[in-house]
Amino acid sequence: MACRILAVVLALVPFLVLGCAGPAAAPGSPPVAAVPATPSAATSGTEPAGPPSLAPVVPASTAASFGGSPATPSVGGSSPVATPDPYLSARLHMVDTQMRARDITDPSVLAAMEKVPRHEFVAPDTLGQAYYDFPLPIGFGQTISQPYIVALMTQLLALKAGDKVLEIGTGSGYQAAVLAELTDRVYTMEIIPQLAESARATLDRLGYQRVVSKQGDGYDGWPEEAPFDAIIVTAAPDHVPQPLLRQLADGGRMVIPVGPVGGYQSLWLITRHGGEFKNFDWGGVSFVPLTRAGQPAPSAEPPLRVP
Ligand code: SAH
Repeated sequence: MACRILAVVLALVPFLVLGCAGPAAAPGSPPVAAVPATPSAATSGTEPAGPPSLAPVVPASTAASFGGSPATPSVGGSSPVATPDPYLSARLHMVDTQMRARDITDPSVLAAMEKVPRHEFVAPDTLGQAYYDFPLPIGFGQTISQPYIVALMTQLLALKAGDKVLEIGTGSGYQAAVLAELTDRVYTMEIIPQLAESARATLDRLGYQRVVSKQGDGYDGWPEEAPFDAIIVTAAPDHVPQPLLRQLADGGRMVIPVGPVGGYQSLWLITRHGGEFKNFDWGGVSFVPLTRAGQPAPSAEPPLRVP
């Protein structure tokens, strides 16, 4: 499953669905491995629980009908919604009740969440739940994140037009589309080839051709395109990957869930100031683990502790 928040710092934020509990944000530091330590995917861990049946993955070749609504013609930019949208009122309601009512205040983030057609990124059998307050399965044991978490992580990135942003964990492509509403320099990486392919097709179909995507292990980032003004990691490692820290520009922001496989993680906002990094813990979340190329997928064994 993707993410569901356990707690956030602001008192205004109500408990959320799906088992929220509440440690307050605390200063501190996430674990950072000096060398690539045994990654979470290799150490095992339980797959976060998800709905019992996984949605079938729609192959890229049929992605034009992904989402179950008529294909939206490409408009060649980041203004993809060109046909009447039967989900518009559901989406506006989502933004009001799940975002404005909580702590999403950045007008550009709210506008992006109101614009991106989330229903186009979910599997056909979950279409009716596209704007609900929880993550949804997208196949291969992965999920599209809870809408609020997408908004929160986007807000924490504090993007300005023209910022160069790297996402690790393309999944359905939804988060990348939200980012693309805020800046036209979005790079995204996905380790599962079929997801990388179907997300690419969805992004193209909806007019997000400017999002640059590739299939691969995002642990090592995208050195050829670094530095990035912002990095967002939507799968959880058990430590902060050093390559990603190195690829963060001076003044850059990284949002990343860090914690043991099979357990909850902390959502960290890391900001770079020259050679110094400041960390802020936004509270408990639950993401799918960051897996590593060439290493076994997480198993159901108990998680190993990171020293
Ligand atoms: N951002 C996505 C949801 C993320 S789910 C969306 O908007 O739909 C997490 C994704 O991270 C999964 O698709 C998973 O396959 C991917 N992932 C896990 N480990 C990865 C890695 N090392 N590099 C790139 N992607 C990874």
